[in-house]
Amino acid sequence: MSDLNTLVAATTATLGRIARDFTPAVFASSLAAEDMVLTDLILKNKLNIGIFSLETGRLHPETLAMVNKVKEVYGYDITLFRPDTAAVDEYVAKNGLNAFYDSVEMRRECCRIRKVEPLKQALAGNKAWVTGQRRAQSATRTQLCVEEDDPAHFMTKFNPLADWSEKDVWDYIKSNNVPYNALHDQGFPSIGCAPCTRAIEPGEDVRAGRWWWENPESKECGLHVVDGKLVRIKSVNA
Ligand code: SF4
Repeated sequence: MSDLNTLVAATTATLGRIARDFTPAVFASSLAAEDMVLTDLILKNKLNIGIFSLETGRLHPETLAMVNKVKEVYGYDITLFRPDTAAVDEYVAKNGLNAFYDSVEMRRECCRIRKVEPLKQALAGNKAWVTGQRRAQSATRTQLCVEEDDPAHFMTKFNPLADWSEKDVWDYIKSNNVPYNALHDQGFPSIGCAPCTRAIEPGEDVRAGRWWWENPESKECGLHVVDGKLVRIKSVNA
């Protein structure tokens, strides 16, 4: 059995255990490459794990197109959670549409309204949630476990791809004809909201295109918490 087959078998077993022992459970998909691997494994194995995405209102058209692609390929409707309209309107009226460029505080407030609060709604009432995080993605994820306690959301959090490399992800996608976001072929290894993500140059850190105007230490969206602290995204490789 190849290394990839071993990884796939272990990941499928983890997802099966989540579906069996942690119902109801949900998978938070960003519609990027890692999350398409998990989507493929969940849907092909008909596992009872709901899939949702945070439709922030600022996503690239290519990312939104993946919702229809998943419907077309798998016949599955990804649930979209959107920010509170009044909160968005108030932020924009008071600060401007793109005030997140002005300061870290303004950026965090936009992420709070468009991502963090909708995530809370999406996770409410579930026993576990699943993410596509990998250990090799950043310095803050080197200790990432497949299963961990998430005290911020009072549930168990699973990172079934913790052991996967970027190559494993793409080998799986290519060998299984998994649909993927067209932005990955345009220099976007990491994909977030359109105004806060740019393509990177060869040799740049994979997350260099996320909130590129900020100091690396301030980069966080507030979705992931480690040891009671918001994760500081400081990438080291892949
Ligand atoms: S990534 Fe940018 S546009 Fe998206 S919620 Fe955060 S600050 Fe707002």
